[in-house]
Amino acid sequence: MDQKAMYKLSYGLFVLTSAAGGKESGCIINTAGQVTSQPNRISIAVNKANFTHDLVKEGGRFNLSILSEAASFDTFKHFGFQTGREVDKFAGYEACRRSDSGLYYVTAGTNGFISATVEQSIDLGSHTLFIAGVNDMEVLSDVPSATYAYYQAHIKPAPQKPAAPAGKTVWRCKVCGYVYEGEELPEDFICPLCKHPASDFEKVTV
Ligand code: FE
Repeated sequence: MDQKAMYKLSYGLFVLTSAAGGKESGCIINTAGQVTSQPNRISIAVNKANFTHDLVKEGGRFNLSILSEAASFDTFKHFGFQTGREVDKFAGYEACRRSDSGLYYVTAGTNGFISATVEQSIDLGSHTLFIAGVNDMEVLSDVPSATYAYYQAHIKPAPQKPAAPAGKTVWRCKVCGYVYEGEELPEDFICPLCKHPASDFEKVTV
């Protein structure tokens, strides 16, 4: 079995925003898609570690802002590399507006947004799969949607040059490019930059 076949699946990238109990937040997801057209329904799978997961679960509503090829790495850092449990991601953040639902959507580096109300949720262990009916949506620009492959090739910064001498083996984070210098990466290692786990690192020779 070749695990890399999973990489052949194509994904979009989205800012998922929600609110509940007077709190608002957003996170980056790559797991959204349309599941029915009459009526229009979408599904999102959200990691339970994300604060926004709890808001969607509690509030039952969310906005999905669709990231385009014009999205900057800063948008990924802002919504993806810090947690809403510690930071109010909308405090002082100007590249957003409220949809008719009252929830924020992101206006910078996005080409559309969809407002939806949760109809079903399925517990998948690490994630919850939410199936939601679409209430509202708007096109924001004609820039093509960013795929995960586009992010990897064009939005993520060029890999940092490790201080290690040429020919040495290091571990590089596939999400943000952070380099861990050492023969073996600890199993419980968490990327200090993007907070992704050891499974998102690849062994490379510099
Ligand atoms: Fe990383």
